[in-house]
Amino acid sequence: MSPDLAAKLAPLRRRFVDELPARVDTLRAALTASPPRNEDALRAAHSLAGTAGTFGFQTLGETARKLELSLADADSGEWKRLLEAVAAEVAAALKDAGNAPAEAAPQKSAATTRREMFVALVEDDATLARTLSEQLQRFGYRCTPYATPDAFFAALGTEAPPDALIMDIVFPEGGLAGPEAVLAERGERLAGLPVVFMSARGDFAARLAAVRAGGRAYLAKPIDISNLVNTLDAVARDESPRPYRILVVEDSELLATTFCQILGDAGMETRALHDPTRVIEALEDFTPDLMLTDLYMPECSGMELAALIRQMEAWVSLPIVFLSGETDLDRQMQAMQRGGDDFLTKPVAPEHLVASVRQRARRHRSLRAFMVHDSLTGLLNHSALKERLSVELARAERSGAPLAFAMIDLDHFKKVNDTHGHAAGDRVLRALARLLRERLRRTDIAGRYGGEEFALILPGANGDTALRVLEDIRKNFALVEHGAGSEMFSVTLSGGVAAYPAIAEAAALAEAADRALYKSKHAGRNRITLA
Ligand code: GH3
Ligand code: MG
Ligand code: MG
Ligand code: MG
Repeated sequence: MSPDLAAKLAPLRRRFVDELPARVDTLRAALTASPPRNEDALRAAHSLAGTAGTFGFQTLGETARKLELSLADADSGEWKRLLEAVAAEVAAALKDAGNAPAEAAPQKSAATTRREMFVALVEDDATLARTLSEQLQRFGYRCTPYATPDAFFAALGTEAPPDALIMDIVFPEGGLAGPEAVLAERGERLAGLPVVFMSARGDFAARLAAVRAGGRAYLAKPIDISNLVNTLDAVARDESPRPYRILVVEDSELLATTFCQILGDAGMETRALHDPTRVIEALEDFTPDLMLTDLYMPECSGMELAALIRQMEAWVSLPIVFLSGETDLDRQMQAMQRGGDDFLTKPVAPEHLVASVRQRARRHRSLRAFMVHDSLTGLLNHSALKERLSVELARAERSGAPLAFAMIDLDHFKKVNDTHGHAAGDRVLRALARLLRERLRRTDIAGRYGGEEFALILPGANGDTALRVLEDIRKNFALVEHGAGSEMFSVTLSGGVAAYPAIAEAAALAEAADRALYKSKHAGRNRITLA
């Protein structure tokens, strides 16, 4: 356990200790009532057995477990002795708690905003340098051009270092002047800076020089902007993956908070749910990668919860991990048959909890990525997008916020394919996908609806806002220059926008957006229409 996590858990542990006398009172009262309230005693012993170990009170946990078992065995006569043993353990724990560790440090919240990236472009052809700089800007890369390697290295001493370097090969100084200059400076000054070479030269000697200079990629001129951006994304963007999201369903607030702290400390995003009857909202609202659930809760059992979730189409594949004091193997198997993926027995060591949750969340996410994403563009595919639309609509209904849905279709795309080839067409589709990602907010959702059709979900946006966003996308996309052989060309797009609550149904929204798109086409293309 990291010292940081230990410090965070300290106040929770103290709360647990503070609650211990009350727990013993509950146990004693239930057992000494006449007739004894066996059910209440069982529940209290079970809860204590599961919790104590989590906070490091192993012996107390084991004694409570023995008490629980003796109660289940009807009148073994053991329980009196065990109750006193529990009480003694609790007294010891209370004494120990006097010198407990310090309070937790306040939690820092991680900023997740996307920062603009800087690239340096060393290119002696001023027109090409200017064109590429402008194009890169549309995709979120701020670009500074330099005419010679020397000019770049001179600036490197005084200006902030870029996130990536694009270097030409041929300069007036020599046929391999670009890679030679990089090689000479490769040591400290360029340490860690990803370099992408580009050239009209495609021969072995040029490519070898680029590799020897540590080039990460080699692009042939004419440069296709989509290829260049993809390359930069791959080498320069440290797009750390979104943290795993874990929904923790646990009626004990203390335990829920504890599990959330442990998982949060390991870099995961968590949400605690104390009331399992609110699970549907929590799933839709939080979209977890995994659900960790207690097995015994007053409102419904973890098994019932798993079965219920497995009957919802959108969540059939959500990993569900049971966390319980249940040590009976038969019961565990039964729980798995009801739709659980794993079973962790309380008390669970933090490292073990983190490892099993992370492994399952990772596997789920990579499987799901396959299922829901379009392989050409990386955007959501048709069925995933439709699924998200109904989820987002339900959320909009609950929160009372508006939502916009937009359809985009490329103009005369058949002609693009016919003139420049299918591969060039594919690059245009990828360029649009990349542009959408750049222009949209993180909460917006983009998908590839069909061949050259795209759809957007803009939660929180009304029709007018969405229209502005789409107009911005339309204008920027029309300015992107695509390359095919030595030719450059541009493509336009048309769009249609429909908004909730004016239109309340998912299918009706899609239809209205499609009709608006058709109007845009009919009115001459390269425009957006609001339904
Ligand atoms: P309009 O402005 O009316 O939309 O004209 P259009 O030519 O774009 O429309 P049409 O529906 O006639 O043609 C769509 C073209 O999109 C035909 C098809 O070959 C092309 N297309 C669809 N999917 C892909 C793809 O994955 N890659 C490429 N390169 N082309 C695709
Ligand atoms: Mg040159
Ligand atoms: Mg079409
Ligand atoms: Mg089209």
